[in-house]
Amino acid sequence: MNPAGKPGKSGSLMPVEVALARLLEMADASPIHDRERLPVAQVQGRVLADDLVSTLDLPPWPNSAMDGYALRVADWTGEPLVVSQKVYAGQAPEPLKPGTCARIFTGAPVPAGADCVEMQENAEVLENERIRFIEPMSPGQNIRPQGQETTVGELILPAGTRLGSIEQGLAASLGCAELDVVRKVRVAVLSTGDELVEPGQTLGPGQIYNSNRVLLCSWLQRLGCEVIDAGILPDDLAITRARLGELNDVDLILSTGGVSVGEADFLGMALREAGELSLWKLAIKPGKPLTFGHFRGVPVIGLPGNPASTLVTFALLAKPYLMRRQGVKEVEPLKFQVPAGFDWPKAGNRREYLRGRLENGRAIIYKNQSSGVLRSAAWADGLVEVLEGRTLISGEYVVFIPLSEILN
Ligand code: AMP
Ligand code: MG
Repeated sequence: MNPAGKPGKSGSLMPVEVALARLLEMADASPIHDRERLPVAQVQGRVLADDLVSTLDLPPWPNSAMDGYALRVADWTGEPLVVSQKVYAGQAPEPLKPGTCARIFTGAPVPAGADCVEMQENAEVLENERIRFIEPMSPGQNIRPQGQETTVGELILPAGTRLGSIEQGLAASLGCAELDVVRKVRVAVLSTGDELVEPGQTLGPGQIYNSNRVLLCSWLQRLGCEVIDAGILPDDLAITRARLGELNDVDLILSTGGVSVGEADFLGMALREAGELSLWKLAIKPGKPLTFGHFRGVPVIGLPGNPASTLVTFALLAKPYLMRRQGVKEVEPLKFQVPAGFDWPKAGNRREYLRGRLENGRAIIYKNQSSGVLRSAAWADGLVEVLEGRTLISGEYVVFIPLSEILN
């Protein structure tokens, strides 16, 4: 039986949803309460700290959806009506004189007494500012009623909403110049491995460039986190212990590498010494091993080091955890079903997240799905989820998670 309670080939591997549920439980137990007030233009990617409740009706008054003429339907007999006033957007009209019409433009308040707007294409302009209306009209036509979008006191965005351009525009439409947002979650990024050197340096024998550092730092910044770049950690217990101890004012230490099973796992050793370590073998591919623990009270997530594994485990586990720490409720990416454009003849015991693309309405996958190949993700526009124990023939449906969902 696996930890989800289901028997299966995956043996003791932990299903992805169980790992996620545990991480979210942990995140719920240590929410970030601090907040700050920011200009609405600067809240991109941040999380709303309070419910946003409308203090306005939107629109505040009935207004015209068209350029045309406002009138009372009952005044239309077929005979022309005289234009008694002109109302532009931004003006306050007089009540409509009975038996007349008002020239009106899109967004302008509809004069009291008028109950419809006829578009100018259906109006014939005669001499002496008289207008003949050609077609029958109905009350309410081309009028955007007061409060059609929101009314005073209505909940517009609940606390915990992650703010993007659309929410910023919506808040601005309600007159909010500033918003209270949760303070940025502070994340220290550590890369571990004696083999790592930074781009710009010369590679020595056995060395590779550190790609996870820039991958994660730039991703976290994009997600609205405060990033503390803690550099490369050599494979050494004393240095690991000392470096973790220095990172005492962050909300999360996020490290990559050094969690492969059977390897000298210095991060794990340091956490074990500190008394708080969970080592999870996940039913996920790429990215089987994942470490969660605390170092002197600071949460630590250790992701596997192969760049494609780092990407997948960060996307599906660490990112939702970080969002939840800030109070975001909906933390899982949008997924949808698409027909597979490939065969998957051999069932695996881990859930696969293949780097794939949509082509002619089908998901196709990159030719090399090795966990070391980050290029697969650069080629891809999403992850194709193939469940444990599943085989596929082309045309059967698979779940597709767009990268845009994951990266933002
Ligand atoms: P590890 O989990 O430390 O055994 O790492 C697994 C694989 O990922 C090894 O091939 C590492 O060299 C590679 N790796 C670990 N960290 C990084 C990194 N920051 N950038 C690129 N490759 C890495
Ligand atoms: Mg390593």
